[in-house]
Amino acid sequence: MASLTNRVKVLEQQPLSFMERLYLPAIFKGMAITFSHIFKKKATIRYPEEKRPFSPVFRGLQVLNRDEEGRENCTACGLCAVACPAEAITMEGAERQKNEEHLYREEKYAAKYEINMLRCIFCGLCEEACPKDAIYLSETFAPSNFTRKSFIYSKDELLIPHPINDKEGYDAARVSRVEKLKK
Ligand code: SF4
Ligand code: SF4
Repeated sequence: MASLTNRVKVLEQQPLSFMERLYLPAIFKGMAITFSHIFKKKATIRYPEEKRPFSPVFRGLQVLNRDEEGRENCTACGLCAVACPAEAITMEGAERQKNEEHLYREEKYAAKYEINMLRCIFCGLCEEACPKDAIYLSETFAPSNFTRKSFIYSKDELLIPHPINDKEGYDAARVSRVEKLKK
């Protein structure tokens, strides 16, 4: 058979020695290695009951931010989508109406905002591109799922909890963010 390189090495299998044919020494050696690990510090943890601390530079699931009054920060400028190297972000902008000042901080807002988590590489460029502090990467994993469609996160799934309707949830989401920014 033709070979592209001369690095092919022909291996010849030697006949088993008497000790090798007994198999027991090899089994005992393997068992000894297994038992020695019982007394060593475990490399694994009982996730999800136990969690490892995140690195300060960890970048997880995106969160769309609200201000202290609960208004959405995003103004649908599209800079995050342009900055995204994976083309994971899609959005549709809309004009804020007169009676919607309590919902949206800017005159324009994202009527639709989606991130495809199967495309996202969690690089954080969307966060860096945003001029409105409207998107950031949290310390949360994108949970596993069974369908591709379920990995397309809608605006409702990405929005931070409302600071007045769910203060506890809002504070919890903000704390990790604020601590991260301090570093
Ligand atoms: S983290 Fe990176 S890949 Fe993911 S949506 Fe933001 S810019 Fe795109
Ligand atoms: S998240 Fe930020 S960068 Fe992206 S559309 Fe909204 S305001 Fe613009």
